[in-house]
Amino acid sequence: MESGEGGASSSAPAGDEDPLPPPQAPPPPQQQLSRYESQKRRDWNTFLQYLRNHKPPLTLARCSGAHVIEFLKYLDQFGKTKVHEAGCDFFGQPNPPASCACPLRQAWGSLDALIGRLRAAYEENGGRQESNPFAARAVRIYLREVRESQAKARGIPHEKKKRKRTSATAAAAAATTAPAAGESSSSAPPPPASSSSPAPDPPCGGSSSPVS
Ligand SMILES: [Zn+2]
Repeated sequence: MESGEGGASSSAPAGDEDPLPPPQAPPPPQQQLSRYESQKRRDWNTFLQYLRNHKPPLTLARCSGAHVIEFLKYLDQFGKTKVHEAGCDFFGQPNPPASCACPLRQAWGSLDALIGRLRAAYEENGGRQESNPFAARAVRIYLREVRESQAKARGIPHEKKKRKRTSATAAAAAATTAPAAGESSSSAPPPPASSSSPAPDPPCGGSSSPVS
């Protein structure tokens, strides 16, 4: 008599695992915020330490935009962005073929983000908005100069994205939609030469050629 072939083995579970994974996905916005907050706190402590080591001693209350610029220049020694000097052969080249002796600097984007965090931290730590040295006009001008000189030195084109997008959109619009009757455009789009182009005849099959 046969008592079921392999019935016991087929019904046995492979493992005693929970079908549901444990919920361990924190909301990303909160995580991002705390990361920004911790970065801001670190930046603020770095700045306070810079003030403590300053010679002559400098207090936060006496800190001006010029001191902030001094701080940004001090940070350049920890930078990782190659900024070519005017005499370098690679000046203006985004991807130089070799290395050079030009200094590493803080990238403009890093400084800009840093100033934003410090400006917020200053006011969160009791500083008055009117006397916020990180919001000083001199700092804004300095950052703009850094951005422009780094863009030139590294061969980064100036904000061409806007123009590009505009022209691309116009071209796409001209390509997809037929020119409107009432629309007057200085540059007329090319007429649709081939509205429905047939597939080109393969050169191999010469037996069936409609062209006489
Ligand atoms: Zn260089």
